[in-house]
Amino acid sequence: MKKWVYLYDEVKEVEKLRGGDWDEVKGLVGGKGAGLLDMTRAGVPVPPFFTVTTEACNEFQKTGKFPAGMWEQELKALKEIEQKTGKNFGDPKNPLLVSCRSGAKFSMPGMMDTVLNIGLTDATAAGMVELTGNPRFVYDAYRRLVEMFGTVVLGIPDEAFEEPLKEYKHRKGYNLDTEMTADDWKQMVRQFRDVVKQHKGFDFPQDPLKQLELATEAVFKSWNGKRAVDYRNHEHIPHDLGTAVNIVTMVFGNMGDDSGTGVAFTRNPSTGERKMMGEYLLNAQGEDVVAGIRNTDPIENLKKYMPQAYNQFMDITSKLETHYKEIQDVEFTIERGKLWMLQTRNGKRTAQAAVKIAVDMANEGLISKEEAVKRVGPEQVDTLLHPQFDPEALKKAEREGKLFAKGVNASPGAAVGQVYFDADTAEKMAKENKQEVIMVRPFTKPDDVHGMIAAKGVLTSEGGATSHAAVVARQFGIPCIVGASMIKIDLEKRVMSVDNKIVREGEWISVDGTTGNVFASKVPMTAASLEEQTELMTLLKWADEISARKDIRTAPKGWPTRGLQVWANADYPKDARRARSYGAVGIGLCRTEHMFFEPERLPIVQRMILAETSAARTQALNELLPTQRKDFDGLFEAMDGYPVIIRLIDPPLHEFMPDEEKLFEEVVTMRVKSETAGLAEKEKLLAAIRAMHESNPMMGLRGVRLSIYMPEIVEMQVRAIFEAAADCALRGIVVKPEVMIPLTGTVKELEWIQPRLIRIAAAVLAEKNIKKLDYKFGTMIEIPRAAVTAAEIASHAQFFSFGTNDLTQMTFGYSRDDAERNFLITYVEQGILPKNPFQTLDRDGVGRLMKMAIADGRTTRPELEVGICGEHGGDPESIEWCHMIGNNYVSCSPFRVPIARLAAAHVALKHAPKKVKAATPKKKAVAKKAVKKAKAKTAKRK
Ligand code: PEP
Ligand code: MG
Repeated sequence: MKKWVYLYDEVKEVEKLRGGDWDEVKGLVGGKGAGLLDMTRAGVPVPPFFTVTTEACNEFQKTGKFPAGMWEQELKALKEIEQKTGKNFGDPKNPLLVSCRSGAKFSMPGMMDTVLNIGLTDATAAGMVELTGNPRFVYDAYRRLVEMFGTVVLGIPDEAFEEPLKEYKHRKGYNLDTEMTADDWKQMVRQFRDVVKQHKGFDFPQDPLKQLELATEAVFKSWNGKRAVDYRNHEHIPHDLGTAVNIVTMVFGNMGDDSGTGVAFTRNPSTGERKMMGEYLLNAQGEDVVAGIRNTDPIENLKKYMPQAYNQFMDITSKLETHYKEIQDVEFTIERGKLWMLQTRNGKRTAQAAVKIAVDMANEGLISKEEAVKRVGPEQVDTLLHPQFDPEALKKAEREGKLFAKGVNASPGAAVGQVYFDADTAEKMAKENKQEVIMVRPFTKPDDVHGMIAAKGVLTSEGGATSHAAVVARQFGIPCIVGASMIKIDLEKRVMSVDNKIVREGEWISVDGTTGNVFASKVPMTAASLEEQTELMTLLKWADEISARKDIRTAPKGWPTRGLQVWANADYPKDARRARSYGAVGIGLCRTEHMFFEPERLPIVQRMILAETSAARTQALNELLPTQRKDFDGLFEAMDGYPVIIRLIDPPLHEFMPDEEKLFEEVVTMRVKSETAGLAEKEKLLAAIRAMHESNPMMGLRGVRLSIYMPEIVEMQVRAIFEAAADCALRGIVVKPEVMIPLTGTVKELEWIQPRLIRIAAAVLAEKNIKKLDYKFGTMIEIPRAAVTAAEIASHAQFFSFGTNDLTQMTFGYSRDDAERNFLITYVEQGILPKNPFQTLDRDGVGRLMKMAIADGRTTRPELEVGICGEHGGDPESIEWCHMIGNNYVSCSPFRVPIARLAAAHVALKHAPKKVKAATPKKKAVAKKAVKKAKAKTAKRK
């Protein structure tokens, strides 16, 4: 019979079954189950429990029934727990109560269901009153069960229970739940049971086993609840993992003032600071803390009330962190002075905290630098480089009295948006109206997650730093402020206010998740500074060291054996400076035509295009030469010592000309109004533009074709490049220009143009008396034919750079300007394409062409330098492919350089040959031991 259920002391069996792989263990019994099993093994006080596996859940999803034998195994495990605790399930004299808690492989905080206090019935409640002498506690627990069971298992809306309680308290003149007496709670139990009867037509089950059975089923079902599915989609968690179900003996934090409950992180999950951060409540049950309904106390205050339990807690959590080498997110309950640990799992953290914790743990010697690098995702680096509030603008907003409120800074970052007071409206406004949205709620519940995902920021008036809103926002990297208690939110009138300041729904606010300040205005933002983020700088330095390791790639002779370098696409010196400060070690693409679009240059460019003779064209180009030279000079200076790839003009000429339709309208208007001044010139221009018209310009006169058709332009550009290079060299700057010819389709094109250009380069250097200067001529591989004939192309080209925007467009035959707004989304939704191929490289088609082009190109020229400069150069998945096929570098937008540096290190480690991977300190020690052993053996033999 298949085993569906594991008891608290069966960790070894699970490990054995899963080949000793802890990740696999988590896959079977869920993260929570694995943590509980591991803690039990380590002697940490954990209430006896058993876990129903994810496999059982997956069976249930298929058939809608428990798999054969599962329920019987649950009953058997329950008997074991009864023996261990000395209590009996459903026994009025000494009742055992349990919780039924979800727990998938990856933590999905609050996304699935939990039912506490299972086993309470009229009979067992009466028995527990006898036993504990505490009827208030018992009836409070009982009403919680009826409420949770009613909402979670029976699907009754929360309000059906919340309203009668609110009304009751109002009638009695109570403000807080703590004012409710035993009789009051008993009364509520009755009322709640009536709610169940009214909504469902049957009674709340008085059979504890029925309660357990239905709760298990409800947890299984919650795997496919809307919020869980939304969450998994957002987090890219597969939908077929299933959840485990943990049945855990109840311990009570609400048995009086010597009891309590709390949640904590072993380090600050928002900033990464190495200091326990948590909250607790005396005389409360677990969900009270997380729900943010009661105001909690910081964990350090527990020391005053229960020093022994506090010290034990600190000791256990510190050991847990050392054991898992990860920040732990723990839940605990103290029942009459005795500490129980209910959960430990790796804590969700913000991007900022992830970086700090990884670097700190490496510096503390807990993990290796490689591990630190691996722990931070490229997308987290992206978050850290998102814009921040401009410090000056913040001061100004404060001076102008725009500071609206202050709360707990739960998740850092800046967000500006329009206020909406519920998740559905927030999502609608963001998705349909494309608004920037801030979701404001008294507190959030798991049902609000879709609104949070759609929002730029989240603000709540209640709850603490471990409340639902805080935990979820941190995980999603959404700036968030919680517990801004001075704000009064009127959900009916759709306004919030602080004293006499009012913000209505739809109005703009700014949320500073780093400080906890809320402004009733739009505060301007600026780019984030990398230099100020010292831990991130350290981590990226380690990433570069990994990528630079010799022999991290195995490759044929001449091919790169280090990891990828990261270069940047930059058109202007200021972009190049940013790229360099972000760690780029080259410019992979300077699109020179962008310089032609400058307002003062465009008329000259147009004159040059319209010139009827080569002499007239050259005259216009001579006017452009000094400005082009200046552009290049600035680039070389910014990139002193690094290669700079300058691409010769690429786009079709009509892109530089005025809009045809507009011009035609002007001409017609002038004709109708009989205005003659300037009409002839306009008509001539119109005729010229019409003559230039192409039906399919992306495949028309552009790239190298244009250079052959009209060589004067590129001749001027090459002159400008080498004059600038020579001038810089004379100023002592180390210049490495690389001239890139775009859109080559046949080697004959290079044969035609390249020698002419090399002659110009040589002539300029001779004129300037420069004896030695490193330069290259190469080409972009953007046309499938170029990739297919790469061996021949490499006989002229000294380098290849994959222009994967065009290469994708031409390989698929999709116009990149039209595909994305038309059919591409449908293609991805329908599964015809796995992803948008303009964002993530299509390995099977485009990628295969690239792989072939590199291999063929290097048969002709083994040292051929290969890069990528299409948009894919900053996409981690595409970067991995570039590493695998033997690129020397990837080039991307300056803002993505740090992301690409981290991604390059990740893929280098992922694909490293075994012996290079083994170069971590721990393994070295093992290796040394092995050598010692071997030596001893040989000595013996001698
Ligand atoms: C490309 O095609 O990938 C490329 C970088 O060139 P552009 O986007 O300028 O056509
Ligand atoms: Mg291109």
